[in-house]
Amino acid sequence: MKYKKRIKELVEKLNQYSYEYYVEDNPTISDFEYDQLFKELEELEKNYPNEILSNSPTQKVGGFAISKLEKVIFDKPMLSLDNVFNIEELKEFDNRIKKEGFTPSYICELKIDGISSSVKYNKGIFILGATRGNGVVGENITENMKMISSLPKELNRSINIELRGEVYMRNDVFNKHNDERILNGEEPFKNPRNAAGGSLRQLDAAVTKKRNLDVFYYTVVDPELFGINSQFDSLHYLESLGFPVNPNYKLCADIDEVIEFINYWDLKRKDLNYATDGIVIKVNDFYLQEEIGYTIKSPKWAIAYKFPAEEVETVLMDIVYNVGRTGTINPRAVLKPIMISGSLVSSATLNNEEYISAKDIRIGDFVIVRKAGEIIPEVVRVNLEKRNNQKSFKMIDFCPVCKTKLIKEENVASHYCPNLVCPGKELSSLIYFASKPAMDIEGLGEKLVEDLYNKKFIKKITDIYLLKNHKNELVELEGMGEKSVISLLEAIEESKFQPLERVITGLGIRYVGSKVAKIISNKFKSFDNLVNATIDDFVVIKDIGDVTAKSIVEYFHDNLDLIKELQLIGINPIEENKNTKEQIFLGKNIVLTGKLETMTRDEAKKAIENLGGNATNSVSKNTYLVVVGSEAGNKKEKAIKLGIKIVSEEEFLEIIK
Ligand code: NAD
Repeated sequence: MKYKKRIKELVEKLNQYSYEYYVEDNPTISDFEYDQLFKELEELEKNYPNEILSNSPTQKVGGFAISKLEKVIFDKPMLSLDNVFNIEELKEFDNRIKKEGFTPSYICELKIDGISSSVKYNKGIFILGATRGNGVVGENITENMKMISSLPKELNRSINIELRGEVYMRNDVFNKHNDERILNGEEPFKNPRNAAGGSLRQLDAAVTKKRNLDVFYYTVVDPELFGINSQFDSLHYLESLGFPVNPNYKLCADIDEVIEFINYWDLKRKDLNYATDGIVIKVNDFYLQEEIGYTIKSPKWAIAYKFPAEEVETVLMDIVYNVGRTGTINPRAVLKPIMISGSLVSSATLNNEEYISAKDIRIGDFVIVRKAGEIIPEVVRVNLEKRNNQKSFKMIDFCPVCKTKLIKEENVASHYCPNLVCPGKELSSLIYFASKPAMDIEGLGEKLVEDLYNKKFIKKITDIYLLKNHKNELVELEGMGEKSVISLLEAIEESKFQPLERVITGLGIRYVGSKVAKIISNKFKSFDNLVNATIDDFVVIKDIGDVTAKSIVEYFHDNLDLIKELQLIGINPIEENKNTKEQIFLGKNIVLTGKLETMTRDEAKKAIENLGGNATNSVSKNTYLVVVGSEAGNKKEKAIKLGIKIVSEEEFLEIIK
């Protein structure tokens, strides 16, 4: 039953990573690592189809629509793409299509590494922009899209049309923003994709405007309305309407021509002024596309070939250590600086002792470094041919900051410092509290926190709110002027109004990332309720296990004084009950099928009716949506056949939320 545990573990991990990636625009692992874990899950699910969990990322379009932005329900779902990672897998894709008796020509397009978006025009006037969200429900970003200068606001023809494309940030714009952000002591963006995501999903369109985003369009929804029969013709049509279309597309007669195109762009992509993470290969003919069909989350007639991550060789000059907010010791490689994927890299993560020993990494080695998805670079392997007499690696025994003896628990990969008041931990906690996923205090980046900590202005999180008493001293600090101190103090005051989930995230409770923080704030709604909750109150919540429950209860027990201090300062958010729901299902027929895990049938029906919909029994062309639980039968098949939107129970919960 080991595989069962692994499947559950992978689903949980991948869902957490997706949340960080899609909602927070702040991924913590590289796309490469994510894709590896995803593949492992796909493989296990293929071997054990009865163990597929309803919330598995393989069963839905990745992404969420849970921000404060208004929601948009798509008439035609926005799908994802299946991936291949090498030419062999690409050929398998081609063979699958040939086996069904088709010999299509393919159109190849660059896969733009940005944010999926849908736009609508009414009589030629731009009226709606939306993110992909979970593919069924997206977020309304109309006002923000209006700030993108390359998006036509009025077309040269008075038509009603819906399109899909990619919003992205050019490399030069990305570098300029990051230079400015570093100068202002702000956290730089991790890569152009996350920068585009964060800039687009803003409540204030003025912020989007400053970020200078761009768009490329590639899909016409309902192309038959315009007499278009192929993807090639769609791209031409879009060009004729004045839309920005990426010019690097090619119609290929067969898979060999596709491979040539891929090889060409694998080298050439480095010269582009925007990020592309692969090539999208689509069957060109729309009639054939419909014949080949769809899975729940992606078309079977298209595939994304992902470029391999760029790898370079450099020298590992040293291994240094940092203490994380929970006391975890993180070894980091100091590298001879080298350019990878357009940026200068001088350090890389080494994860933990096991990782270093397994790869036999030694100071002085020539190492291969990879920067996948342009996130944190990692040391992949050692070039053993160039090894001299480097000494084997030995993990440190004492905390690099407070010198306490380190502890290594069985079954836990990392060492940690047990000293509750270790300054290394204190500093990391402060940095985390102010960071984007937590209190998001603009201007209070890592460097400034470190400076303020070393100069003894702040030691614990509540000290951040007392900085206003040191205004004159702050103005004197290097790199700070009166203007930036005023903005910083304003941002600190504003952060007092952050919702409960962000404050909880910022506390840095062990095992409580932003997702769990959101779950427990929705449930408990205030600090007072959280402080009084017991382990039993937490374990009954889906997604919270014993270890997390224990950690939360212990945290509030040990930190009552801190919580009281926060409340006195004015940080005491209370989640309101949201009763005013929009009638998003007004007049629509919705079918429930299969076993629901988190609610009874009656509860689900009530929820549909409360939102204006009708819960009906059979699937027909008048059905708007089918909610699929576990062990769903032929209603699901029928919905797929009729091209009706299908959502999992988890997605349904998101919608009704
Ligand atoms: P995807 O990005 O792999 O591919 C689908 C998307 O490609 C489409 O939705 C579309 O927006 C885009 N696209 C760009 N150019 C296109 C073109 N010319 N034609 C058609 N589509 C085009 O799929 P996804 O579901 O958005 O994301 C999954 C990927 O995201 C994963 O494979 C992984 O690499 C990454 N991810 C990473 C993390 C992480 O933590 N690092 C977490 C979740 C997902």
